[in-house]
Formats: sequence, structure tokens, C-alpha cells
Amino acid sequence: MVEIEDALAINGGEPARKTPFPRYNTIGKEEKEAVARVLDSGVLSQYLGKCGPEFYGGPEVQKLERAWESHFGVKHAVSMNSATSCLYAAMGALGIRPGDEVVVSPYTMVASVTAAAVYGARPVFADIDPDTFCITPETIEKNISERTRAVIVVDLFGYPVDIPAIREVTADIPIVEDAAQAPGACRNFTYCGTDADIGVFSLNYHKTIHCGEGGIAVTNNDTYAERLQLVRNHGEAVVSDMGPDNHDIIGFNFRMTEIEAAIAYEQLKKLDRLVGHRWLVAHRLIDKLSDIDILTLPGDPEDSMHGYYVFPIKVHGPYANRNWVVEALRAEGIPIMNGYTRPVYREPLYSAYKVDCPVVEDIEYHKLITTNVCQSCNTWEDIDDVVAAFHKVGDFLKLCSSR
Ligand SMILES: *Cc1c(COP(=O)(O)O)cnc(C)c1O
Repeated sequence: MVEIEDALAINGGEPARKTPFPRYNTIGKEEKEAVARVLDSGVLSQYLGKCGPEFYGGPEVQKLERAWESHFGVKHAVSMNSATSCLYAAMGALGIRPGDEVVVSPYTMVASVTAAAVYGARPVFADIDPDTFCITPETIEKNISERTRAVIVVDLFGYPVDIPAIREVTADIPIVEDAAQAPGACRNFTYCGTDADIGVFSLNYHKTIHCGEGGIAVTNNDTYAERLQLVRNHGEAVVSDMGPDNHDIIGFNFRMTEIEAAIAYEQLKKLDRLVGHRWLVAHRLIDKLSDIDILTLPGDPEDSMHGYYVFPIKVHGPYANRNWVVEALRAEGIPIMNGYTRPVYREPLYSAYKVDCPVVEDIEYHKLITTNVCQSCNTWEDIDDVVAAFHKVGDFLKLCSSR
């Protein structure tokens, strides 16, 4: 008992991991060459907020969008300067307006809720599932009213949400899938983001692939694609030349530059390999940590592939105080967080809303720990260090409970 207790780094023992994990960096010579090529061309952006060929952006933007369409098997990809912009534009494309309700997840980055509020709609928070951390057909159905005009579903941590199952309760209410954390993940051999009415990906620097800042919205619906393009690029100056159905469009400048598009094009080629890397690390961890009974580990639904953008673990049991577990693992040199993020309805903007989401409260404040080691581990030895740290902490807690 004493040896195991003293061996813990939190009690002064040797940490399981002695050196920091390397920074995740996916940028290489391909991106460098692409940027140099664009700079040499002198064309850093080629948009015009007017009907005509330049309404759709320059050659790099076009090349990226066509490549994205073919990689993901979708009819339209519309690039923007962030996934936040794509989510806002998705609400504009669906014609969301004041008085509408949009069912959202409370467990996400704020933009996937604020998108609804920007268009004057009321976000209605559905609770999450305690195992997938995503909203479900059941929790969505409970929050649908006659005012519901859209549902925004988030593939949180890279978990591939079952869109066809959700469609059974939403019927013809459009679904927007925030797949910012799940590019390359799939469910039933269908890529995340591609079977919703509009799917959204992020290319910001935290994500699996990136170009600094950027986002892509995808859709198989021609009308939504046109409206996304109008919102992206001063659509109110274009609608009178474009068609009769878009008079409610308010445009923004959500345009991606040629340099970012050229980087994103190179990054897309690396996506499968980078997602595969995360999956391999995740499954080695799942395999090696499965005997620690205070932990519930993530997994992939059948015929599906989780993106493991974040590796979520639930901690439970009478002696497993979550905050202590996090402190102990940090002392062992493992990057780990208490929970993920404050539920969005706790932000001041939403404080007047009545919400009932006991599961997300329990997960965020009592059960969940998260880590990004799936992107940080580059060798089997890196993974062994993570496994060793968890076993040190797990063995100690097991002894506590058997005492
Ligand atoms: C990162 C992220 C976004 C926002 O992406 P940006 O490109 O930074 O605007 C939206 N939703 C989720 C779930 C995210 O993780």
C-alpha cells in the first residue's frame, strides 16, 4: 500500500511521463510550397460581391471546394473563414428568423448555439446522452414544438451521431450537423457532416486539419448551397440578379483567402492518415486501460469510426474523486482536463432561459475527464507512458477500495 502510494508523482514519486508531449503540427513542406505558389501569383483573394464568376472566389478557393466535394461525396462545398461563419450562414440558408426555435446541444463550443441567436431564434437546449455526450432522438423529440425550424447536432469529440435515427423524430425539420470535431469520422460508412441537410467542418488550428482559420459547409441541396454562398459574400447586393427566392438574405463577408484555401487543399490530402493515427492511438488506449474498473472508456458504434478529436473518459466509484484523479494524472505528466466546457446555457447570454439538462451537469461537473493524447502520441512508448500513468492511479484507487 505504502509503496503504491509513494510511487504516485502527486506524492513525490517519479512521474510516468518525464518529457512533455510534442506539439501537434500537421504543416509541412507541401503547405509551404502551396503558400509560396499563391504569393508568387500575387492573387491573395479573388472575390467580388456581385453576380458573375468572381462571386464564387478565386482559383484556390474553387480547387479546395471541388476537392472537398469529391473527398466527402457531396454535391456542394462552400468554404468560409471559419466554422462559426458556416454555422451562422447555415441558419441564414435555412431562413431562420425571430420567433423560431432551434434545438441545440448545451455541450459544445458556443458558436453551435449562438448561430441560432444571431438570427433572432431561440436556442432550445436538449440534454445529452451520458455515453456519447451528444443530443439524441429522444432528447431532441422532447424539445420539438410547432415553432422548431432547425436542429443543430454536434459530433462532439468526433463521435459520429446517427443522423438517420434523428431524422425519424425531426421529419422535415432541417438538421445542421456541426462536424467541426469529426472530419473523416463516419457512421455506417457515411462521413460525418454529409447526411445532414447542411454539414459544417472547421479548419481552425485546434482541429484535426487546419489552415489557421477556416470552415467548410457542405450540402446536397442546390438551394441551400446558393443561399450559403449569398450569406458568405454580400448576398443582398446579388439577389436581384440571382433569382426570386433569396430576398431575405443578409450577406456578410465570410470569405476564405486564396492562401488559406491552398493550405487547406494540402491538409485535406493528409486527413485520412491523421484520423487513422488518432483511431489507432485511441484503440490501443481502450485495449490497455479496459481493466481499470473506475474508468468508462469511449468506443465506436458498429460500422462506424469515431474521430477521437478528444478522448473522453468517465471516472466513477466510491474512491474515485474526479478532481483528485485529474491532479494525480497531471502530476504523472499526462495532459488531462476536468470535464470539457461549461454547458452553453450557463453563459450570461442564455441565463434567462429555463433549461433542464441534468445529464450534461453530471458529466461536466462530476464524471468526465478529457485528453488530447490521441493527437500527441507518436510512438508506442508515448502510449505506454499514458497507460502507465493511468495504471498507477487506478491501482492506488483499487487498493483504497479494497482496504
Ligand atoms: C472548433 C469548433 C467550432 C468553431 O470552429 P471555428 O472554425 O473556430 O469557428 C464550432 N463547433 C465546434 C463543435 C467546434 O469544435
